[in-house]
Amino acid sequence: MKNAQVLFPVNVPTAFDYRLPADMTVQRGDFVFAPIGKQMKLGVVWDIVDDDGQRTLKEIAGVKATQPLSAEMLKFISWTARYNCVSPGLVLRMVIRSYKALDPSPVVTHFSPSGILPAKMSPARAAILERGGPFPARASEIAERAGVSAGVVRSFEKAGGMRAQSLAVDGPFGAPDAAYGGMALTPAQRNASDDLIYQVAQKDFNVSLLDGVTGSGKTEVYFEAVAEALKDGGQALILVPEIALTQAGMSRFKTRFGAEPAPWHSQLPDAQRRRIWREAAQGRAQLVVGARSALYLPFPNLRLIVVDEEHDTSYKQEEGVIYNARDMAVVRAKIAKHSVVLASATPSLESLVNARSGRYAHVVLPERPGAVTLPEIKLVDLKDHPPEKGDYISAPLIDAARQVLARGEQAMLYLNRRGYAPLIICRNCGEKLKSPDTDSWLVEHRATGRVMCHKTGFSMRMPKACPDCKAEDTLVPVGPGVERVAEEAARHFPEAKIEIFSSDTSGSPADIAARMARMEQGEIDILVGTQMVVKGHNFPHLTFVGVVDGDLSLAGGDPRAGERTYQTLVQVAGRAGRADKPGHALIQTHQPEHEALAALAAGDRERFISAELALREALLLPPYGKLAAIIISGPDKVKAAAFAKKVVSLAPRTDGVEILGPSEPPIGRLRGMYRQRILIQSEDTVNLSKYMLTWRGRIKTPNKYKFHIDIDPQSFM
Ligand code: ADP
Repeated sequence: MKNAQVLFPVNVPTAFDYRLPADMTVQRGDFVFAPIGKQMKLGVVWDIVDDDGQRTLKEIAGVKATQPLSAEMLKFISWTARYNCVSPGLVLRMVIRSYKALDPSPVVTHFSPSGILPAKMSPARAAILERGGPFPARASEIAERAGVSAGVVRSFEKAGGMRAQSLAVDGPFGAPDAAYGGMALTPAQRNASDDLIYQVAQKDFNVSLLDGVTGSGKTEVYFEAVAEALKDGGQALILVPEIALTQAGMSRFKTRFGAEPAPWHSQLPDAQRRRIWREAAQGRAQLVVGARSALYLPFPNLRLIVVDEEHDTSYKQEEGVIYNARDMAVVRAKIAKHSVVLASATPSLESLVNARSGRYAHVVLPERPGAVTLPEIKLVDLKDHPPEKGDYISAPLIDAARQVLARGEQAMLYLNRRGYAPLIICRNCGEKLKSPDTDSWLVEHRATGRVMCHKTGFSMRMPKACPDCKAEDTLVPVGPGVERVAEEAARHFPEAKIEIFSSDTSGSPADIAARMARMEQGEIDILVGTQMVVKGHNFPHLTFVGVVDGDLSLAGGDPRAGERTYQTLVQVAGRAGRADKPGHALIQTHQPEHEALAALAAGDRERFISAELALREALLLPPYGKLAAIIISGPDKVKAAAFAKKVVSLAPRTDGVEILGPSEPPIGRLRGMYRQRILIQSEDTVNLSKYMLTWRGRIKTPNKYKFHIDIDPQSFM
């Protein structure tokens, strides 16, 4: 007798045992129905084991007629769960994003003229033939075009004038054609693409770091690797940061491959989600472009994963299953034996160290194609050039913007802060406006007349009186957001067309595309933007970038603050001078001596990298040591702190592991829950995931309290 261990897509630590009925055969990865309590649930056969006859077990009720998950996929689920210290059921839930996708596509009846004219023709039937097309189409579509009711279409079919056929609602995606388009590559690009093509052709596990300056043509180069992967029905997955999933990005794929890829992201409507899932699982969607969660689609023939902008923090999922899609992409490739390309103009130090040690192939694009030069970056020391009182833009930035506008070119002002002002203070009593249930200041959004908490989304109308002392008209904004910078720019350049680009101003994808098009066509003179502007947009007439606050991302306790600042500023400056016009960037700063900023101004990446790596090595920080975090939260501040202390007291003792904390993080209260953090630092040789799992095994989390493990944390809030 055999038992099946069934994993359900829920948060329980293991798979459950069931007896296999004698007349039922299943294999690992099959979707099966099995009883839990009084309910019948869908799960996946995780393993098949001999029955020891010791227990009475419930039986598997039935097997779902659908394609099983592959052995590779099961291994990937298991690996993800173990590495990130979560239950495999939660990872399975990320894989099964749509139960409907397990069924064949629903069908819908389409009608087209049969070519036979029934004896009884009416004006309505004639209208269907004249104006109802194009055929085949649904009755409702034909009816609308012909100006008749859908019932007329159906009765016309019964009379023999139309033919009905059942067509799948979820059609296949257009097949990409590897040889469709493509640019004439420069010799350097050709070399790089040959390297990548060679790797993909190995059909074995390998990772390449495509390290090319902004605008060097990395996308064009990895397209060639994608083309190689698509041969003989292979599949390719391109991961991009969520906000780079724009229409403009998609149409580049169409230009190269003749078909739009399947786009996958977290906000997909259900119908599209099931269609893409099913097509990807059947191997029919060959090219998928998606945000991080696309990594958990069950591709059967995957031959390449590209992680574009691999340094980007949006690859880290911070809620639910906390994982880093860049790292898990490498894991998946190792299990399924295929290639990964990590692409960036500012690779993470982790990837650079792997490339230097020879673990990853290092493919370098040192320059932009043609005569296009990289923008020159200079610092503006705010001690020497303070802006006017109450202002935020210094004279050198104003002068530079004036010059490019006079030449009919465009300027961009960058500040990664949404809204008008990050803080509102009462002139009378000194109180700051706080979020009601979270340790976070309320941000003024003047465009909407509201104040908002950016941590929780809470918002309310801007109050007239101070909530604390009740004095009226005493609330004043402190510090700048993009709205305030735009207001200031409008004062300096009253004639200029100024637009703000942030997540508040960009609504739908169509909206973003329209604004991008206006910018490309030169209809905007000055674009004031947050990090929304950084990713993957090409603006041919943009020749000056002014960074309003170069120090912003240096603050806080994040060990990667210097690296992030360096990466962001290179990327922001890289927006300038894309076509045949040279660009330049000015960065306002109070800390011109900071290594990240000084290296930027010197145009010396190597200097920054060596200094930063030396520091990390000395402090045993990634990539030379490992980090993990425990985040505890609960409804009572004192009890949360006591629980955190108890957790620390239960830590396994091992050499090479150091425990820091517990301590209250910068956001000590979030949505009414009090938080505590513990930071765990280990030597590189320690299996930190295993250590954390052992530790977690000793913890009993009280009711209403939460205990999360974050492997390699990117956020320290
Ligand atoms: P990256 O991804 O490195 O920032 P892209 O692939 O987006 O660079 O290329 C930047 C711009 O240069 C794009 O508009 C692209 O079409 C153009 N480009 C890249 N390579 C070539 C080439 N060989 N010939 C002409 N234009 C190119």
